[in-house]
Amino acid sequence: MMFILTDVPYIPPQKIEREAAHILEQSELTIGRLDGLETPIEEIIEIHLGLSYEPELFSDQDILGYLDIQSNAVRVNENLDPSYNPGQEGRFRFTLAHEVGHNTLHRYLAEEVLAQHSLFATPGGERDVRFCRSSNEKARIEQQADAFAAALLMPAPKMRQAMARYTSATAPDRQRLIHDLRGQGGFMERRFGRGGAYATPDDIFKMFVKDMADLFKVSAQAMGIRIGTLGLIAQTEQREMALT
Ligand SMILES: [Zn+2]
Repeated sequence: MMFILTDVPYIPPQKIEREAAHILEQSELTIGRLDGLETPIEEIIEIHLGLSYEPELFSDQDILGYLDIQSNAVRVNENLDPSYNPGQEGRFRFTLAHEVGHNTLHRYLAEEVLAQHSLFATPGGERDVRFCRSSNEKARIEQQADAFAAALLMPAPKMRQAMARYTSATAPDRQRLIHDLRGQGGFMERRFGRGGAYATPDDIFKMFVKDMADLFKVSAQAMGIRIGTLGLIAQTEQREMALT
């Protein structure tokens, strides 16, 4: 019998941020200083949390991964595994971090379910509680795991540290940011080669998000959402602040 949990209590976003920061802090004791911008998510899973990671071929391609509570394993759709598919690294890492979110925020719920149902379990009968990540998820439990994953892979202090590479303003509005980016030879050349002079503000902003995403080894989509969540770019009047 397999249980899939969907009904969970509300957790304030600040608490989710704190839980993720706590894991990062604690993992420095087991895997060493986290100096870089990139969160070593595989080491956190295998060394710090003692979970095993296993790629798996899923019949349902909408399932990206799941946490198998009883065998302490994070199983991820092997199509996302960067050793098969390097272009999926951002989604792969986000899926791992998402399952760490379930492990941190929701494991106790799974254990309660298991404890209740063990009374009725038949000998040899399989009991299995899973948290999964699918590509079309909206349930609160999934949103919580996503928020946790974003905080784990893109911690607020490191996001601010990274922003300082592009602009001297602490909360620039979009216009100021684009102005500062245009003035950065390194960034413009890396992203536009010789075509920088023709780049529109939208092109530059998109490339900024992509540049940040590469620093943290996440997808541009996840980075765009995170920049918005943290309010790193000041909102001004009319705003076409759509981060895509
Ligand atoms: Zn999930």
